[in-house]
Amino acid sequence: MDDKELYEKLKYERSDVYRDMPDNERRAMLDFADDYRYFLDRGKTERECCVEAIRMAEAKGFVKFDDKKTLSAGDRIYFTNRGKNILLAVIGSDDIESGLNIVGAHIDSPRLDLKQNPLYESDSLAFFKTHYYGGIKKYQWTAIPLAIHGVVYKKDGSRVDICIGEKDDDPVFCVTDLLPHLAKDQMSKSMAEGIEGESLNILVGGIGVGSNEISERVKYNILNILNINYDITESDFLSAELEIVPAFRARNVGLDNGFIGAYGQDDRVCAFTALRSIFELNTPKHTAICLLVDKEEIGSVGNTGMLSRFFDMAVAELIGKLKGSCDLLTFNRTIANSACLSSDVGAAFDPNYPSVMEKNNQSFAGKGMVLMKYTGSRGKSGASDASAEFVHEICSILDKNGVIWQTSELGKVDQGGGGTIAMYIANLNMDVIDCGVPVLSMHSPFEVTAKGDIYMAYKTYLAFYNDR
Ligand code: MN
Ligand code: MN
Repeated sequence: MDDKELYEKLKYERSDVYRDMPDNERRAMLDFADDYRYFLDRGKTERECCVEAIRMAEAKGFVKFDDKKTLSAGDRIYFTNRGKNILLAVIGSDDIESGLNIVGAHIDSPRLDLKQNPLYESDSLAFFKTHYYGGIKKYQWTAIPLAIHGVVYKKDGSRVDICIGEKDDDPVFCVTDLLPHLAKDQMSKSMAEGIEGESLNILVGGIGVGSNEISERVKYNILNILNINYDITESDFLSAELEIVPAFRARNVGLDNGFIGAYGQDDRVCAFTALRSIFELNTPKHTAICLLVDKEEIGSVGNTGMLSRFFDMAVAELIGKLKGSCDLLTFNRTIANSACLSSDVGAAFDPNYPSVMEKNNQSFAGKGMVLMKYTGSRGKSGASDASAEFVHEICSILDKNGVIWQTSELGKVDQGGGGTIAMYIANLNMDVIDCGVPVLSMHSPFEVTAKGDIYMAYKTYLAFYNDR
């Protein structure tokens, strides 16, 4: 063996999905991406993703957990939480106390939420006031078509589901921006300050109606339209949950159609791949769990976020049903024997912004599933930091199943960072590692993922469920 051969043998080189994937998977990869685009268009909010997950799961034989019915190996059930959070399970052949295999992803995404008293008129234009949700670059939300999704409860207690801006003949909405001709002062501000949170107001109308005695004729018209179409009045906004999201559909990107471009891929790309993989299972050894949570983008708080006791309650219900009762020790042993893939997206290396990333330890679009041993920021603060033993175990499963994968950090040390649900799962006393799909333009209204990586995420979760 000459030096060159020996060097090739000794060194590590990142794989490339399109170079290394078997030819017979290429068609499946493209078909999978088409199904994923369809899912993205049907689920632009956590509520809609929940509805879509239930629809898909029921078509695959999952039934809602029923306290009165017994459970046995191979059974497929789901629990939902307030319409925003869902846990699906396929009961394994082993005693549940031997541990669960959990894939956890989040179905909330950065967006603009309507304030509780949103509607106002100014200079014959009607607007909705918003408060942004999650980490956004505010300038990205101006001058693009937006849609309104959400729920309003009327005085009689009935619920109205709102979705405006998605059908071809629907109107859309927008946040206006200043023309460059008059933007001298704005353009000299920092990007953080150029658009302020309080100016992210949604244009909703401009035609005034009624007599001149009405001071706000445009607002009057909008209230009339809302009343005619949805039977609601202005005070019904006070309790409503209305989310503003990009109005465009998921698209193929590139002359080679190599990417998916869409809103909300963080983290619905992991939610969809996790769902599709749990659907494939028959009777796994360990009970398989797919957990889709809300509120990750604002810190996993709240009764539908990872920090909610919903997860504990669902697991306790399963143990109770399978073993007759669930005491604290059995619950804790089950959790301690469990393992979790905290399935969240990674930051793909962007050649247009190389200075914030360290190439040896960054993920690349098209180079496979990303494993992130730790996230956090500035000295691993907030990281659960998976152990060598667990990382090795997962890597071995991926290699055995022909998954193309890579490792990554979130950018350069001291450049920034971020967290996921992993640390909260680790706190329960469980092995957990972050893994997911690399994303370009993360948290923007149009995030980009590579089709090969999406397919590898699906293969990862399936391998984990079947082989751990
Ligand atoms: Mn995420
Ligand atoms: Mn995020």
